[in-house]
Amino acid sequence: MAIVAATSENIDRAATLLRKGGVVAFPTETVYGLGANAFDVNAVARIFDIKGRPSFDPLIVHVLDDAMLRRVVEDIGPQAAALIQHFWPGPLTLVLPKRSEVPDLVTAGLPTVGVRMPAHPVARALLERSGMPLAAPSANPFGRLSPTRAAHVERGLGDGPDLILDGGPSPVGLESTIVAVDLRPALLRRGAIAAEDLEAVVGPLERPPEDPANAPLSPGRLPQHYAPRTPIRILDFEPVPSAERAEAGALAFRAAPAGYAAVRVLSAAGDLREAAGRFFESLHELDLAGVTRIDAEPLPERGLGAAMMERLRRATFSA
Ligand code: AMP
Ligand code: MG
Repeated sequence: MAIVAATSENIDRAATLLRKGGVVAFPTETVYGLGANAFDVNAVARIFDIKGRPSFDPLIVHVLDDAMLRRVVEDIGPQAAALIQHFWPGPLTLVLPKRSEVPDLVTAGLPTVGVRMPAHPVARALLERSGMPLAAPSANPFGRLSPTRAAHVERGLGDGPDLILDGGPSPVGLESTIVAVDLRPALLRRGAIAAEDLEAVVGPLERPPEDPANAPLSPGRLPQHYAPRTPIRILDFEPVPSAERAEAGALAFRAAPAGYAAVRVLSAAGDLREAAGRFFESLHELDLAGVTRIDAEPLPERGLGAAMMERLRRATFSA
């Protein structure tokens, strides 16, 4: 069994593996990541292999501090600097011009690299002890639900990673928000930091289209993503006849609907932050509940609610 508790000793073991070109799954505040030395092409290639990820989808590089950031990116303009100042360490990924040392495999051949400074103490300890930036996408099979626990990683990837560090459930539970900072900053993916909070710092962001079918097929914006194995649809529970409920699961926002075979409530208090923390966890549980379909109730389209709706739409999308 490759899962070990994230003790100081095991973090050292993981750091040693990373220095030798290994691939290690570790907790971050957003979701669990599958990490390798960002400068080691062979190690990065193993990430794609383990995830079954198409090589045109770029990875996020995790850095410990400003010095490590400078090893990865070429320059940081005033708007990126303002976002870094306000939101790092934390669940915000910035897309910035890359240094030539960053392999093309990491960025899918793009001249830019997605970088983030995580806040999770285990992720930070691993970055510090390995001494290198870590390229780390979410530690799940490509296109599937993101993992918020070590057990989700093991269920999805088996013994693919050399080690899985168990640091408990990811406290935020949703992926980072991704912003490209060119002349005008653009929101590439909604996530754990609400777009409104970013706009309070840098002004209006260009927004992605809400319907995934209309999203351009730029790297990492594949319409089908974050999907459970069970078919899922988004709808109000009320009109669903009881015959259709008996074999289905329900993902509810505040109140449990009657008659479903399995129900998960995201936040009885209607708190979007609490809901985000339970979101992937609840989908994983419903996916394992043996139901034939999952009905998901629409969430309020603001802040983290908009980020969860983006994921639900992608989960329901079939081309
Ligand atoms: P994940 O690490 O699984 O949350 O996914 C990483 C995502 O980051 C990709 O799917 C892209 O959407 C985004 N990303 C990373 N680097 C870039 C980049 N250079 N340009 C645009 N998007 C990026
Ligand atoms: Mg992912």
